[in-house]
Amino acid sequence: MKVGRQTHFWKNNVLAIGLAAGFIEPLESSGLHLVQIGIERFLELLPGTGDTRPLQTAYNKEMAAVFDDVLNFVQLHYHLSQREEAFWKAARELPINAALQHRLRLYDESGTLDQLQPDAFPDTSYYFLLSGNNRLPKRPSALSLSADPERLKFVMQAILDQNKNALRDLPLHEEMLRLIHSQKLSKAS
Ligand SMILES: Cc1cc2nc3c(=O)[nH]c(=O)nc-3n(C[C@H](O)[C@H](O)[C@H](O)COP(=O)(O)OP(=O)(O)OC[C@H]3O[C@@H](n4cnc5c(N)ncnc54)[C@H](O)[C@@H]3O)c2cc1C
Repeated sequence: MKVGRQTHFWKNNVLAIGLAAGFIEPLESSGLHLVQIGIERFLELLPGTGDTRPLQTAYNKEMAAVFDDVLNFVQLHYHLSQREEAFWKAARELPINAALQHRLRLYDESGTLDQLQPDAFPDTSYYFLLSGNNRLPKRPSALSLSADPERLKFVMQAILDQNKNALRDLPLHEEMLRLIHSQKLSKAS
């Protein structure tokens, strides 16, 4: 795969969107999201008759930051993986970029994350990935230490109950597909 991103996503009257803008890799399926973000931001900046250079600069800077933060998140999967096959070992040994190194150091020390790009992956995604790979901080975040343990238990139980209800009430995947398919057929006929 040819991976990378443009430095000038918008240049004069040409805008690079989708694969023309860049490609990271398929692990987190971010391609369509990046297309959507690119379109939305361009519409916000849609040029009139004036000078488009400040618009281009803003667009290029923001899209580069979003792509780079998606890259950080994808890199983290390889960095944290504990799989022992040669591919994963080799991937783990590759250096990670400075922004991600800093993010991990901060997390290890404080359980918090530095400012993430709002249009890339949110903090919840990082916490799933980090804790799911047994990377826990040296201590919990200071604020969480002040939380009432009884209240936490209550909230966690409410989430468990919600999951149980969803499992009970939702149709099976196969049933859902059958339903969608039959509706399509009846519409067409
Ligand atoms: C198997 C697979 C699964 C994926 N799953 C996800 C997912 O779950 N979530 C997600 O966000 N992203 C996913 N992606 C990525 C996403 O599909 C792509 O990022 C997105 O389709 C790119 O859109 P695009 O318009 O830039 O390129 P494309 O969809 O590749 O469109 C480019 C078009 O240009 C045409 N073309 C090429 N050369 C020429 C030429 N010289 N003249 C005229 N036409 C030309 C091609 O025929 C094609 O129709 C997946 C990709 C693949 C392959």
